[in-house]
Amino acid sequence: MIVVMKKGATNAQIANVAARIEQLGCRVHISEGEERTIIGVIGNGRPLDREQIERMAGVERTVPILRPFKLASREFHPQDTIVTVTVNGIPIGGRQLIVMAGPCAVESREQLLETAHAVKEAGAHVLRGGAFKPRTSPYSFQGLGEKGLRLLAEAREETGLPVVTEVMEPQMVPLVTTYADILQVGARNMQNYALLHAVGEAQRPVLLKRGMMSTVEELLMAAEYILSHGNDRVILCERGIRTFEHYTRNTLDISAVPLIKQLSHLPVIVDPSHGTGKWELVEPVSRAAVAAGADGLIIEVHPHPEEALSDGAQSLKPARFAALMRSLRPIAAAVERTL
Ligand code: PEP
Ligand code: MN
Repeated sequence: MIVVMKKGATNAQIANVAARIEQLGCRVHISEGEERTIIGVIGNGRPLDREQIERMAGVERTVPILRPFKLASREFHPQDTIVTVTVNGIPIGGRQLIVMAGPCAVESREQLLETAHAVKEAGAHVLRGGAFKPRTSPYSFQGLGEKGLRLLAEAREETGLPVVTEVMEPQMVPLVTTYADILQVGARNMQNYALLHAVGEAQRPVLLKRGMMSTVEELLMAAEYILSHGNDRVILCERGIRTFEHYTRNTLDISAVPLIKQLSHLPVIVDPSHGTGKWELVEPVSRAAVAAGADGLIIEVHPHPEEALSDGAQSLKPARFAALMRSLRPIAAAVERTL
């Protein structure tokens, strides 16, 4: 449940209510709004006596949270969460849209550095690139592993762009954390609970991608795992779900963007590359995502898509990416965002 404090409730009253709730064996999460403070109660499984709390000084009312996700819910935390990336302090989830761009997979130093400089030049804020790749076939390119991580760190040194890269196993979290600024949990691992637990304890923001057969509620429950293990820097990503349509790789659920914004305070970004699987569709779908209220985009860019070791068909060439960035600016302005 949440405890809504009265407008003008004093700090002492807030502290008093928080202390009482903790005495009853629950944890509290205090969210100070412009008008009033909200105290989120993280239960211990036993029901709390709401009337007892409501009788305390400064309390306006208590509201039960009926949804299965609590920490991720908008009720619990009415303001938008802004996730800050440590390297350059960029805020994800505020007025400014954040664009993450780079190759699907790190393939070589030349490929990565060329792409990193090009996306930086075009205005991207974060460099993406997979070093450990979850591939459908065990015979497909699996990524360069730690060598790929080292190249990402080198690209960060050269460009100043923070790096987002995927981590596939709980045991790999410490290694990937030493190189990455944002840990990516891929669609195939959205419900890998051991991994969610491990990234929940990591000191890095987490980009959590929606599973290809997962509902929005399941995505938010996966985020709840990370939040409940102490990591409050979670960014959600809509990357398309599997439907009967086969002209696109996935069906990008654009409605998930405003829906998640209603249900949750966490930032939401859109991946039009995996969402469509076709580079020609990336630009219009990116524009739609920004118009629908996404906090940013993650886009695959490759200097020679025809030679890419993974996802060439959905990768933009650098010049196309630069054109896309330009075409997004008026859309961003129309929805009162900056890019
Ligand atoms: C990726 O970002 O390259 C990737 C593998 O994405 P997803 O997990 O959404 O398929
Ligand atoms: Mn990819």
